[in-house]
Amino acid sequence: MSAYLEQDIKFLAGVGPRRAELLGKELNIHTFGDLLHYFPYKHIDRTKFYAIKDIQPVDTYIQVRGRIASVQKEGVLQKERLVVQLSDHTGSIPLLFFKGVKYLTQNIKQGGDYVVFGKPTEFNGQVNFVHPEMEFAEKYEEGIAAVLQAHYSVTERLRNSYITSRVIGRLMVTLWKGMKTDVPETLPDELIKQYRLLPLHEALFHIHFPQSALLLQKAQHRLKFEELFRIQLRMLYLREERNTYIKGFNFTIVGDYFNRFYSEYLPFELTGAQKRVIREIRRNMGSGKQMNRLLQGDVGSGKTLVALMTMLIALDNGYQACLMAPTEILASQHKQIITKMLEGMGLNIALLTGSTRKKERRAIHDGLTGGSIHILIGTHALIEETVQFANLGLVIIDEQHRFGVAQRARLRKKNAEAPHVLVMTATPIPRTLAMTVYGDLEVSVIDELPPGRKPVKTVHYFDHRRKDVFEFMQRQIGEGRQIYVVYPLIGESEKMDYKNLETGFEQIRAAFPEKDGYSIIMVHGKMPAAEKDLAMRLFKEGKAQIMVATTVIEVGVDVSNASVMVIESAERFGLSQLHQLRGRVGRGADQSYCILLSSYRLSADGRKRLQTMVSTTDGFAIAEADLKLRGPGDIDGIQQSGAPFDLHIASLATDGQLLQVARNAASDILTDDPGLNQPKNILLKSNIQKQMNTEVDWSKIS
Ligand code: ADP
Ligand code: MG
Repeated sequence: MSAYLEQDIKFLAGVGPRRAELLGKELNIHTFGDLLHYFPYKHIDRTKFYAIKDIQPVDTYIQVRGRIASVQKEGVLQKERLVVQLSDHTGSIPLLFFKGVKYLTQNIKQGGDYVVFGKPTEFNGQVNFVHPEMEFAEKYEEGIAAVLQAHYSVTERLRNSYITSRVIGRLMVTLWKGMKTDVPETLPDELIKQYRLLPLHEALFHIHFPQSALLLQKAQHRLKFEELFRIQLRMLYLREERNTYIKGFNFTIVGDYFNRFYSEYLPFELTGAQKRVIREIRRNMGSGKQMNRLLQGDVGSGKTLVALMTMLIALDNGYQACLMAPTEILASQHKQIITKMLEGMGLNIALLTGSTRKKERRAIHDGLTGGSIHILIGTHALIEETVQFANLGLVIIDEQHRFGVAQRARLRKKNAEAPHVLVMTATPIPRTLAMTVYGDLEVSVIDELPPGRKPVKTVHYFDHRRKDVFEFMQRQIGEGRQIYVVYPLIGESEKMDYKNLETGFEQIRAAFPEKDGYSIIMVHGKMPAAEKDLAMRLFKEGKAQIMVATTVIEVGVDVSNASVMVIESAERFGLSQLHQLRGRVGRGADQSYCILLSSYRLSADGRKRLQTMVSTTDGFAIAEADLKLRGPGDIDGIQQSGAPFDLHIASLATDGQLLQVARNAASDILTDDPGLNQPKNILLKSNIQKQMNTEVDWSKIS
């Protein structure tokens, strides 16, 4: 970057120390260059000026030019407002201000020429502007002429200090006018030619001062491309580096454990997708390179079995394996299922969670270091410093999105040499997110459900149909089925959540009384682990027909006789959560149902979510819909993944195609020059290294 752009923002005319501090704090703008890279969030056509007589109340922004005929304060104290009359040769229109009256009274110049910009509204049969933007006509002309005007988002605090979008725009003009040389190019020539990108200098000019709609589009394209390309290049470069420097355990043997399990213990035929994925994993672990693989598969696609068979390969090669799950319920369920499946094979499987007793914990520690424990299953407790292994060869992380990057990194340090890592996602992730958040991992996808599954029938009812729902539940129970009823965590307070659950529990108990032979159990997050376990076990053994629960059962719980999932206040759940919850049923051969109950008052997004759930059971489609509705930052757990999804201009929701192009571009460059050592790529490499110094060390992660 040039010296000009590296200057402290406080030295830009019109900024000064106080504004500099605010810009730094609120928008992370510390230098001229930072400001230049603060991109507008929208552009508005400002080629046209309206004559005042033609102004109608319309739902778009328009601009007029005129002279201030009068400035008048009306009302008193709190009710005070400022009425400014703006006139041109065709008529006059009031501009109304309810806030900042004092400031405006002092600063609006009667008789001055202004450009006024805003949405015309109608009040008492008269058209006016409420809180329009105003700028001296003279100042307006001093700016850099642009066909479309850039609008910048500002925070509340900035607005309160009169740093508005318009002020930022004006600073941008000052910055640009003071620039003596072009902004240096940051992408290699070849790339710019091949992908027909605007040079950086031009792109920056047209993003802030577009000279045409087409040029704006080109500017956006170039800047988005660069943003996505950099992320992809860095990920692929680090993957390359990891493959070069980190030697993985070479699991060449597929031996007794794996084969015996496959031929004698496997309770069902593997699906084609499971077989393919296991082959991919086997090949990866036997390549001499460390495996870092993401296993994607929809809810119920049978990831646990894949995990199990992968662990057996590690054991066949004389290594230990561990499996980490996000909740105690899930960890202990994994322990039960896996222990049962491996019964008779002479393997020692241990469970370690936060509630494991001290004495037992010590025994487990000894078993791990002594090598007598083959498989360790657990929660976060697994990554505590005190847990050491004799020879850990494989780490599997289930429902990965609940684990942060830092936790993954800690797991890796359990051995002098990095074990193979397989991360399994709970819910399918949109492709763009997968490419960005897990872009440094190899990917395997289970795209097939075990045979005989019937898609879950999903309906949405408003609350007043609860009676019908209860009747339906009674019939299902009559047929021997089991039912989940789930309440949301409202999150205001634990107490309230609990009350919510309690009330629901009482309601259900009243509708399904014990004297009629019904048995209901309740599970929630704050219950001691042992109680939770007991409740789960009772339900699993069919000793209760209804389980009333909070979202603790969201991920992974597996009771194949359960065929109805009732979700209360379904509008309060996110899409991926709803999909996870629905995935708890439909695991057996019977037709299953998911009933979404909601109040009448639905937000537009809430309605969309419920509609999506009713219309599809495809996890990938749901993940895409979720991304479009919420944006990547809000997708469950992605935030704490620490991944570089924090994009300034590109959007993972809408720029999927460009992301693929950028990834291909990055991949081509690395194929040609894996170490980025050729002169034309030096700049790219130094950029990656610069980023590395300021961010998480990606090479140490997964
Ligand atoms: P998820 O991918 O959501 O973790 P699970 O591993 O819990 O799914 O598997 C869901 C259910 O499907 C389990 O009851 C499991 O025993 C069963 N299952 C897994 N693979 C197969 C298969 N190939 N054929 C039949 N059932 C299977
Ligand atoms: Mg699972």
